[in-house]
Amino acid sequence: QSAAACPPRKPLEQYQADDALVALAAGQHDKASIHLVVVGHVDAGKSTLMGRLLHALGKVDQKAAHKNAKEAQAVGKPSFAWAFALDERPEERERGVTVDVALAHFDTPKYRVTLMDAPGHRDFVPSMITGTSQADVAVLVVDASVGEFEAGFAETQGTAGCGQTREHAQLVRSLGVDQLIVAVNKMDMVDYSQERFEEIRTIMAPWLKKLGFKEAGVQWVPVSGQLGENLWAAAEAPAFSQWAAATGLPHLVEAIDATHPPPRLTGMPLRLMATEGTKSFTLGQAAVGGKVVGGVLRAGTRVLVAPVMELATVKVVEMAGAAVAAAQAGDTVDVGLVGVDPLHLRAGTVLCDPEFPVAVASRFEVRIMTLDLRIPLLRGHQVMVHLHAESLPGRLVILKATLNPKTGEVLKERPRCVAARQAALAVVEIERPICCERFADYRMLGQVTLRDAGTTLAVGIITALEDV
Ligand code: GDP
Repeated sequence: QSAAACPPRKPLEQYQADDALVALAAGQHDKASIHLVVVGHVDAGKSTLMGRLLHALGKVDQKAAHKNAKEAQAVGKPSFAWAFALDERPEERERGVTVDVALAHFDTPKYRVTLMDAPGHRDFVPSMITGTSQADVAVLVVDASVGEFEAGFAETQGTAGCGQTREHAQLVRSLGVDQLIVAVNKMDMVDYSQERFEEIRTIMAPWLKKLGFKEAGVQWVPVSGQLGENLWAAAEAPAFSQWAAATGLPHLVEAIDATHPPPRLTGMPLRLMATEGTKSFTLGQAAVGGKVVGGVLRAGTRVLVAPVMELATVKVVEMAGAAVAAAQAGDTVDVGLVGVDPLHLRAGTVLCDPEFPVAVASRFEVRIMTLDLRIPLLRGHQVMVHLHAESLPGRLVILKATLNPKTGEVLKERPRCVAARQAALAVVEIERPICCERFADYRMLGQVTLRDAGTTLAVGIITALEDV
């Protein structure tokens, strides 16, 4: 598994996409797909809200649920801590929905939506990062109840349960998501008060702007998840409908349809980011589940399995449980492979174009943004490095410069430390080589989060992989 073993990389610019193949993959879809991640303070009502929406519009993917259950003993399966947590709810059990699914799907008039639920508890931040790194759109759920919104938005960091609204919004933005829907939830608890809704918006809007969200990228939706108000249809409670209609605010589904997912990298060399090693009857012993983040994956073709660098043949590609001829960037798929050791398939595996393979590195340059640090980051600092589905111990081996966060201009070369809320250029070294890319080439393979002892220190993007 050494980086030296990987074949020389052809420059990505030399890649010529096969138009017929791109068209074939595009033809497998009747709707554009988007990935939605739901974040917010614990108990803000994320699961309830999404549970209602799914129940109304969705398909709890029975096949996926069944598969997940069978995979309990399968090799390399991470616990999908961020998985949709409906199974925790007795009322859902009564309804007989099998819900230990990692992903759920629902259809809006415009999109096929893949939903990822991110638990609000502090311990789940790493899984939230995995979820968010795949997301196009985030729904930030805040609790409108008096005192609860304030608690979720509190600036205190470090105490479990405190102020995750801020940390989550920061992470979402830093992980490249620029489309945000703020669902102001539990409106029933505040008598559907428009003043309360406006108060929350007035507090949060400037702060979101400071985080780098554009005004046009943020939508505000007052809802009651529990009562199903303003989720998939206009508000019905009299006290709510009165003003909601007049202000022209969308309901949640309209807000989702008004988002603009980033362009898909269909014209780039293939990259499939695996979030789990898996196996099933149709897929066979050697299979992975994950997201195509670049190019097209076609059944019957050869792919390179990284970082082990073994060639394999794609036996079958499944989308939402149905076999397809090809999948494209943006699609979530399960892939059955032949010719590869199943033990080499796990979260963090990347399937790629054998001629234009993914980079495999244990050292890279990152541009980071520190969060509310208690103590500054020093050169040599030991950190946990999270990158797509991987997390491993590493070190900040070089601090190259502190930067102006807006312009990127160098403020200080070779600083001794990086303080809270600073931007910096650094070199990170990790324990073993993993699949990664420059953020500029493949966003989802180039996002890094640095954590320590349960808190997020910094988020960043990979700016260089060679000679750093
Ligand atoms: P999560 O931790 O963000 O997933 O929150 P949950 O969905 O588990 O909800 C936390 C608590 O808030 C539960 O007791 C829910 O019943 C309650 N809750 C969720 N949504 C609403 C709502 O719209 N109105 C009211 N009154 N309670 C809600």
